[in-house]
Amino acid sequence: MSGMTPDISDFANKGNSIGHEELTFGKWLGNIWTAFSTCFKGLMITGKYIVAVKPVTIEYPEVREELPSNSRSRLFNDVDNCISCLQCAASCPVDCIYITATRRDKEAPKLKTDDGTPIKLDLKQYTIDTALCCYCGLCTTVCPTECLTHTVDYEFSQYTVSEMKYDYLDEDIRAWKHRVVK
Ligand code: SF4
Ligand code: SF4
Repeated sequence: MSGMTPDISDFANKGNSIGHEELTFGKWLGNIWTAFSTCFKGLMITGKYIVAVKPVTIEYPEVREELPSNSRSRLFNDVDNCISCLQCAASCPVDCIYITATRRDKEAPKLKTDDGTPIKLDLKQYTIDTALCCYCGLCTTVCPTECLTHTVDYEFSQYTVSEMKYDYLDEDIRAWKHRVVK
């Protein structure tokens, strides 16, 4: 059994000799040189970023950047040009578009969208729950009159989830029209 027991005295002696490596004057100077040179290298990298590299961050919210015009951010429906075709709601993968429309009275004046498409239904409700929206853009792609578009708005956080549900017939939301990038 004693043959199977490892003799740790050798190992301990070796470890001991490594742990207490003799420090000569030359090694001492070498350590000092290594300490200074590695600090200097680190400071050179810091200095390069201070002097030569342009910052990639901005001082938000004092500074704001415009998103590219093809960004898929907050949705806007110009309801005056919506024909209530439901294609946007049908294409939405998360079913977050709610539309209610009724047939227009036959006697009512004829209405057309800006691109000349007849409006045969009266839009009664157009709501998007943007808390559910994943900004995939499918609804805007299928819209035949292109009234449903993404804006470049990215600051629309709310305190409650219910406030993320937008009623696009609301006058305040209609005023977002100027935010649409053509
Ligand atoms: S962007 Fe996508 S998830 Fe959002 S409302 Fe449109 S289809 Fe639905
Ligand atoms: S696809 Fe366009 S026109 Fe049709 S209901 Fe949706 S927003 Fe209106």
